[in-house]
Amino acid sequence: MRVCLLRAGLSRASGGSKFVLGNPKAWLGTAYHEVLEKIVHVDLGQEPLLDAVARLWNEAVAAQERRAKAHALDRRFGPPVGWPGYHVARASVLLRAEELAGKPTPPELPIEKQTRSIEAAAATLREHEFTAFGGKLLGRPDVVRADEVVDYKSGAIFEHDAATQTDVVKATYVRQLHIYAYLVKQQLGWWPQRGILLPLGGAGIEIAFEPSACEREAKEALALLDEYNDRLRAGAGPEDFASPSPENCRWCQYKLVCSSFWKTSSPAWSGHLDGAAVEGVLADGPAMIHAGAARAVSLDIQGGSEVRRRAQIAPLNISTHPAVTTLAPGDSVRFIGLRARPDGVLAPSDRTVLFRLKDLPFVNNERGPIARGP
Ligand code: SF4
Repeated sequence: MRVCLLRAGLSRASGGSKFVLGNPKAWLGTAYHEVLEKIVHVDLGQEPLLDAVARLWNEAVAAQERRAKAHALDRRFGPPVGWPGYHVARASVLLRAEELAGKPTPPELPIEKQTRSIEAAAATLREHEFTAFGGKLLGRPDVVRADEVVDYKSGAIFEHDAATQTDVVKATYVRQLHIYAYLVKQQLGWWPQRGILLPLGGAGIEIAFEPSACEREAKEALALLDEYNDRLRAGAGPEDFASPSPENCRWCQYKLVCSSFWKTSSPAWSGHLDGAAVEGVLADGPAMIHAGAARAVSLDIQGGSEVRRRAQIAPLNISTHPAVTTLAPGDSVRFIGLRARPDGVLAPSDRTVLFRLKDLPFVNNERGPIARGP
């Protein structure tokens, strides 16, 4: 919400996932969390740890694979063993499960019995949903135990800070831990002393909690939510929620359907996004190449992050981009996730998505006037 209220809204909107290309690393992260959540409930006297982790991992990954296969864009990534980071995640989940098994935790207490007592301090809550502000603020930390909140992270936990030219712990993760600490205080009555981020591999990072910083974070999150709801009730359109900029839109999954992005982006954004994004009109029908397995399109670029010109984009594999076989001269299309080569050529990558403009949905606020869609 801090970055862009529209992005936050779209992430909760129904029907949008069809136009969003998923990320295999995130799917592996979901499987990783699922195994760690379930392993603590396995009777290791009946099933050896190694077998239990293998079984839970296979089940979790199979569920992700089934979902990806059923998704028109995600199926391109193929079997899980080919997903980037598969083997690291698989090895890491065993490592973390061994750590959990090696440190037996006391029996979990029902939430209503949690007090600021020695017993409560020793209890462990896993994946418990905490709420505050009448349910407006909600969080589900991976582990809450004596004095600390632990969150498993499957992605990088550091980001580059341009101001100091150093790598720092991701600000979003620090904010998330602060909010978890606030939720623990509200629901259990005690302040955790620290938050721990556990990456896929290696040692965890510890963040010391300052109650005042945690309270501020929680209140700011609530203020953002209230601001969002106030605008929604007032009938604001999607563009009133949007905060387009190269920095904000860089990793956004909703560029294809975001009219603010296409109205605001310019060639000055080139190289600052997660891939080139262009909108334009097909000069000709797609040309067949690679013995019919792919197509090349000639696009008059009229918007997005690249210089307005005529560009050839190829090869567009028809199994990854089936829509390319239905395109005709004069069709308006959008591409995101293209690779802009140093020589200026735009080439598809495994993150490229192509849609005809008229096949994209209108984004509107059902409570207010319909804003112009794409
Ligand atoms: S593309 Fe940019 S403006 Fe649009 S929703 Fe995403 S972050 Fe917001």
